[in-house]
Amino acid sequence: MVNHMISVDEAMDRILRHIVVLDSEDRAILECLGQVLDADIRANESIPPMDNSAMDGFAVRARDIQGAASLSPVVLSVIDQVAAGYVSSRKVEAGTAIRIMTGAPVPAGADTVVPFEDTDEEARVGRGETLSDIGILVEPVEGANIRRRGEDITAGQVVLRRGTMLRPPEIGLLASIGKAKVSVIRRPVVAILATGDELLEISEPLAPGKIRDTNSYTTAAQVLRYGGIPMMLGIGRDTARSLNELLGRALDADLLVTSGGVSVGDYDVVKNVLAERGEMDLWSVRMKPGKPSAFGMIRRGGDQPGLPHLGLPGNPVSSMITFEQFVRPAILKMLGHTNLEKPTVRAVMENSVMNRDHRRIYCRVIVRRTGDTYRATLTGPQGSGVLTSMSRANGLAVVPEAVARVDPGDTVDVQMLDWNESHNLPQEAP
Ligand code: AMP
Ligand code: MG
Repeated sequence: MVNHMISVDEAMDRILRHIVVLDSEDRAILECLGQVLDADIRANESIPPMDNSAMDGFAVRARDIQGAASLSPVVLSVIDQVAAGYVSSRKVEAGTAIRIMTGAPVPAGADTVVPFEDTDEEARVGRGETLSDIGILVEPVEGANIRRRGEDITAGQVVLRRGTMLRPPEIGLLASIGKAKVSVIRRPVVAILATGDELLEISEPLAPGKIRDTNSYTTAAQVLRYGGIPMMLGIGRDTARSLNELLGRALDADLLVTSGGVSVGDYDVVKNVLAERGEMDLWSVRMKPGKPSAFGMIRRGGDQPGLPHLGLPGNPVSSMITFEQFVRPAILKMLGHTNLEKPTVRAVMENSVMNRDHRRIYCRVIVRRTGDTYRATLTGPQGSGVLTSMSRANGLAVVPEAVARVDPGDTVDVQMLDWNESHNLPQEAP
């Protein structure tokens, strides 16, 4: 066990070195949002599967209506009508048309669709006529308003490559080519353990000296948000027995995230128990909030690879911010993602921030756009236990180690937590 100061980047490198991409499994496509394909996906059929109409109108032969204009309509006789989902048994021959709806297959003989608005259909309906004839008012371009078979996807084509993240359009593509299940890199199971003799379950009333366990919930919500499966181990007491018992249950997980118990001067139980069960580095990461953190590999027995363990600080905001910096990239790497960076914008700071000891400071800010400038405003007291200012923030403004102070008007990087601009704004005093 070593105890030393390292930078955020170094901590990140050391952690990610021990994190591997997980194996894959077959899943129903709707369970795979945000997951990464583990195999190329090939289409067995063309999309669209047939030439079909892009408009409601009339399927015609372009050569029959050369010179059609509103003052000199070409009149065709309507021999059939076809809706999406049906196939006309008739053929469009010289002087005829078939009324057609969007998505219906283009009937034999037709090469063009003329939309309703380029015909006199409305006028005829207004006059109470039956639609046995139709006047075409515009000369169309041959082939107009027809979506060609295979214009999106041709049979045999690779539609999605291995390594693609599945978002709503990809899930739609898979549905359109009939893939109900696909092979994706599975979601990591993240075991979550809160530590502290002071902690109560959320359903318990407050008692002297006690507080409720917040971190189990913020951590689980963050795990869910970034695509993992939380496994709540509950509250570990500051005794070796309690921790050992709970850690035993974490051994099936892909990652263990603990909070608390790693600060200097804290009970040594957490450190000792974790160190006994594997390798552990105790770090002071040069960041604020969130200075003390730990990383280790816990033995699982046999020749199984170790269980990576990230020990987050106990203060709720520190735990959330260190999660964003270290646990989020670990989860994304396990999921097969390659870009692990947080989406970042450049914003003009509206407040001053002092950086006295060369740490990387993450300030809770609300970012708003005025014109073409993003402006970042502190959301309130920046104490590492003040969760309300985290709740009001949509971003974390980053003050680099080498910058001693930021003044109003200075430009900083802001890691965006989301894009909402009106988070839980302070209420007027009652
Ligand atoms: P520790 O790192 O265990 O010394 O904890 C640092 C601070 O965070 C202490 O004030 C703890 O009471 C608080 N804390 C630790 N764990 C939690 C938790 N799960 N929920 C809320 N506060 C916590
Ligand atoms: Mg503690």
